Amino acid sequence: MSPSSHNIVVLGAGVVGLTTALQLAKNPAYVVTVVAKHMPGDYDINYASPWAGANYLPVGPPGSALALYERNTWPELQRLAANDPSAAIHFQEAVLHNRAKDLGSVTGDWFAELLKANPWWKDVVPNFRVLPKHQLPPGIDSATAFTSVCINTAIYLPWLVSQCLARGARFARADVAHVADAARLHHSGAPADVVVNCTGLAARTLGGVADPTVYPGRGQIVIVRNDPGVMASSSGTDDGGDEVVYMMQRAAGGGTILGGCMQKNSWESQPDPNLAVRIMRRAVELCPTLTDGGGIEKLSIVRHGVGLRPMREGGPRVEKERIEGVWTVHNYGHGGYGYQASYGSADAAVKLVDDVLRSKAML
Ligand code: FAD
Repeated sequence: MSPSSHNIVVLGAGVVGLTTALQLAKNPAYVVTVVAKHMPGDYDINYASPWAGANYLPVGPPGSALALYERNTWPELQRLAANDPSAAIHFQEAVLHNRAKDLGSVTGDWFAELLKANPWWKDVVPNFRVLPKHQLPPGIDSATAFTSVCINTAIYLPWLVSQCLARGARFARADVAHVADAARLHHSGAPADVVVNCTGLAARTLGGVADPTVYPGRGQIVIVRNDPGVMASSSGTDDGGDEVVYMMQRAAGGGTILGGCMQKNSWESQPDPNLAVRIMRRAVELCPTLTDGGGIEKLSIVRHGVGLRPMREGGPRVEKERIEGVWTVHNYGHGGYGYQASYGSADAAVKLVDDVLRSKAML
């Protein structure tokens, strides 16, 4: 290590840990090791990132840190979609359907900012518009549309790893009991100057963190080969206040994700077959192009899946803290917005790492 370089361990290799590692590794003075129990390629209930759609549908309340992270993430997702096909992100037209009766439900609250006719993000994304009444399907009270992106997570997560490796970062598998233990896992053998905690839902139980405000938001999906020709969602369903309709086609042959639900505090890892049928039926009803007017038997299923969104009361935690003598920067609790807030929150975490190292240098 040169006198001006610093050892950093990023704990976690989901989209949040990998994006943070990438943004850190862009600084030649930062020598980065990513340590994680799960890595891209794994499918596990304790690893949210592979299960995401993943698209950009901003939900942060105006003026919140989440809204800022979402605002600051769009330019990089747009740049990658426009200029770097190897990242497997493509543009897609998004149509957001709103039913007035969903106000106050779990899904209505989740999408409250998303469904406004005049949201803060209307000038962030391209082509935002309110759709005229005559274009609305039956049962829908209002709708907006814009150009979003959809990320093929099966390609994008390994792509992030490659980007980190190309900048000198190293990767190691470990299951860490206490956040301070991660400081001993830097590939140089020397202790890390800073640990960045990107453990998602596990921040609820991780030693030294044990954040009780973190909880699961269960999401169930069906991946199909059919193409709806549009990214579509609706604010709710008549099947329960925590069920919703959304669909998006992943870039580069990733198939189409049909969702879903937001089941708070459910840890169930197995797909519910009845919910799977409801997800497929509602998708075909909202978007008959999915099956050329046929029923759900016309869907060609790749896989059923379940992921647990790392929800946190008050939104993501991006903060610095000294834990058992180890400087720690937290970046966890990204709920259903880990991709769309990834670069914004990673850059905020990098600033905190810079602060810690600057203040250490002054001691
Ligand atoms: P994770 O991906 O869970 O990664 C956590 C990492 O920490 C893993 O590598 C894990 O092994 C590691 N770790 C944890 N504890 C330890 C330990 N003790 N020792 C070592 N390693 C540890 N977001 C969007 O922006 N757009 C979407 O369209 C979208 N759709 C979604 C759809 C579904 C069905 C679901 C479930 C989620 C969706 N999300 C979406 C949300 C998104 O997936 C999450 O916000 C994101 O994946 C969280 O990433 P993370 O890196 O914080 O956590």
